[in-house]
Amino acid sequence: MGGKGEKPKLILEDGRRHDGRAFDELRKIKMQVGVLKNANGSAYVEFGKTRVVAAVYGPREPTLRHVVSPYRAVLRCRYHMAPFSTDDRKSPAPSRREIELSKVIRESLEPVVMTELYPRTSIDVFMEVISADGGTRTTSITAASLALADAGIPMKDLVAAVAVGKVDGVLVLDIDQVEDNWGEADMPVAATPALDEITLLQLNGTLTKDEFREGLELALKGIKEIYRMQKETLKSKYLQVEE
Ligand code: ADP
Repeated sequence: MGGKGEKPKLILEDGRRHDGRAFDELRKIKMQVGVLKNANGSAYVEFGKTRVVAAVYGPREPTLRHVVSPYRAVLRCRYHMAPFSTDDRKSPAPSRREIELSKVIRESLEPVVMTELYPRTSIDVFMEVISADGGTRTTSITAASLALADAGIPMKDLVAAVAVGKVDGVLVLDIDQVEDNWGEADMPVAATPALDEITLLQLNGTLTKDEFREGLELALKGIKEIYRMQKETLKSKYLQVEE
């Protein structure tokens, strides 16, 4: 934790956050599916200034033969930050962080994808962060889940994700980059509200046990709201197709 310059006030006198949000308020969210013509499924998801495009290809013949499984489709995920997505230009080459996050994101999606229906194939998910302002892994998971559904891949549930943080001693929902940089803790969570499973849980920084429980509840509350929006987004596309 820590950022450039002097630490800003994260909780103002009136109890609001540095950007005016209440402690349990999500950023402004936009979601759209079917945004790319060259993928089997795609989605765009925006949480404030964090913006991610996800593209899904497959189930298809794997490009790498050795990754094939006779029992199921192999889910492959690539999380990438565009060089223009960050404050300082980021190298376009995949960093250790991006490789690690790609794996963590894959594991957060695997429990819902019915890979057993498509043996000997691969399902490839590309997530491109085009603008990064905190919460890029959770926004990527939310976008990937929508893109998988948009590709018509059978899933047991959708995965939705958000990070909670502790800033100036207060637990807050959906932290942005300033809160991530200067806060005391950052806890990204992904869950499947209908299946009632948690598929990603990470904690950077320090929380007491009670704060951890309270933070998890706050994240799950946010996830329910995000999940509702995901369903609305998919439904509105379906309704448009029907017309
Ligand atoms: P997440 O984006 O999932 O919160 P981190 O906690 O690692 O992941 O990063 C927090 C924020 O810091 C990112 O959303 C982004 O705005 C910024 N950031 C992360 N990595 C870089 C990088 N390599 N260069 C510049 N900014 C970065």
